[in-house]
Amino acid sequence: MNNNLTDKVAIVSGGSRGIGRDIVLTLARQGCHVAFGYVRNDEAAGRLAEEVRGLGVRCAASRVDVTDFEAVKEWCTGVKEEFGTFHYLVNNAGIIDDKPLMMMSREQWQRVIDTNLTGMFNLTRHCIVTLMKQKFGSIVNISSVSGVMGLPGQTNYSASKGGMNAFTKALAQEVARTQVRVNAVAPGFIETDIVSHFSPEKIEEIEKLIPLRRIGRPADVSGCVAYLLGGQARYVTGQVIVIDGGLSLR
Ligand code: NAD
Repeated sequence: MNNNLTDKVAIVSGGSRGIGRDIVLTLARQGCHVAFGYVRNDEAAGRLAEEVRGLGVRCAASRVDVTDFEAVKEWCTGVKEEFGTFHYLVNNAGIIDDKPLMMMSREQWQRVIDTNLTGMFNLTRHCIVTLMKQKFGSIVNISSVSGVMGLPGQTNYSASKGGMNAFTKALAQEVARTQVRVNAVAPGFIETDIVSHFSPEKIEEIEKLIPLRRIGRPADVSGCVAYLLGGQARYVTGQVIVIDGGLSLR
């Protein structure tokens, strides 16, 4: 069955690298136009935008910090002006700043909550009315297995991702009557910059804990995101799909 992403428009936050980058490319390969946000690397964003256009779809890259409510509003308005509308939203932007709670500063707590949880609120808040009015749309929030199980050393991150999961379920019920769907994916360990500073010993240790015996790849996540956004998942809403090689079963 066609997943119906062709000629639709998706907004993806934090799209210039890691999982977000793979999501941008996966959607583009399915014929979806993409507006993605990034925070720092103009060059990487520009290169990705070119690559996406090379796939035959439209692409806009914008420097937007998701913690800035007004900047996010401007971004969404700009996407609407440029593309006519948008249909899909992927809240991917996220950070990690681990510390045992007894040593965690107020700033470390706040920065993670502001980026992961409030960033998702900001972007969703500015997109939701458009999706509801057109009675078509789908949102996928990139959460984490840390928000499902809770992981030691990550109270700030687990709280932010657990909050995203609850937000997903609440919003899914709020907007279901307009045929807008809201889901989340909760990845386990995925090979990106976030895990690139791990030593080979640490990676081996992690792999032993994963029933499928490997760290995930961005494509393991982006395939599921494309499924959830598109028509094949038309009867799926309010779900948190764990993509962790079985890690959380242990
Ligand atoms: P990454 O650090 O490579 O990418 C994170 C992206 O978010 C970057 O593009 C970054 O620029 C962007 N970002 C950070 N702060 C931002 C802000 N204030 N405004 C806008 N964008 C901002 O990491 P990743 O692994 O690709 O992570 C992507 C998402 O997946 C995150 O939400 C992360 O929590 C989640 N996740 C990752 C893993 C993993 O193992 N890699 C596991 C579970 C969940």
